[in-house]
Amino acid sequence: MLLELRDVSVHYGKIRALHGISIEVNEGEIVTLIGANGAGKSTTLKTISGLRPLSSGSVWFEGADISTMAGHKRVVAGISQSPEGRGIFPGMSVHENLLMGAYARKDDFSAELEEAYELFPRLKERQHQAAGTMSGGEQQMVAIGRALMAKPKVLLLDEPSMGLAPKLVQQIFSIIEEINRRGTTVLLVEQNAQQALKLAHRAYVLETGEVVKSAPAAELLDDPQVRAAYLGGD
Ligand code: ATP
Repeated sequence: MLLELRDVSVHYGKIRALHGISIEVNEGEIVTLIGANGAGKSTTLKTISGLRPLSSGSVWFEGADISTMAGHKRVVAGISQSPEGRGIFPGMSVHENLLMGAYARKDDFSAELEEAYELFPRLKERQHQAAGTMSGGEQQMVAIGRALMAKPKVLLLDEPSMGLAPKLVQQIFSIIEEINRRGTTVLLVEQNAQQALKLAHRAYVLETGEVVKSAPAAELLDDPQVRAAYLGGD
């Protein structure tokens, strides 16, 4: 197992965002977290990347307890997040944004740069453009490309399809599949449950900070309760 959350609770002040959740991600998998607004999906990713402290429980990566490890050390260890709302540096060029993703690396990252441009040819074409002037879909590509520059073992993606036109959603999902095919484990948070379940190997359903279901993704696509609650009920 690559990544594990054991009985994790997280609070924002008095608000309990996560209530004893346990999640496992195996090497090579695409695992997705689905759930309504406010279910705790983003908080789960922030907890894994070290942006939110635990109230209780533990987070394990490659067999080590990383519950109190600083965020930048988790990046070095192999955990990289592409944040919700993209979080790119708008005044910097596309190229500079990608380089920022490698800030913690001391080794040669030219292969990952080449790979990012290969996965996203549009970014290569626009490498000198200010990232803030790129379209929504292109900014999403910058955010994912930047996360890949850290050469992660697990890539955490928070709503990569948010605000994108259907055609671009397809494109982003097939690139995620390709990233996984090339060997990176993926933990994907999505509102677009249908697409996420089609892509993922396994899935967890979060409701008000608790895991209410976990199963192979294909099984959840056929689950009447999941269909009614998250897949438009058809
Ligand atoms: P969405 O899909 O809408 O982004 P989510 O499933 O990612 O939702 P979270 O953002 O993890 O949900 O939020 C979980 C709970 O924690 C919600 O009740 C939310 O209001 C609360 N919460 C999140 N961030 C904060 C914060 N900075 N301060 C206070 N409460 C917060």
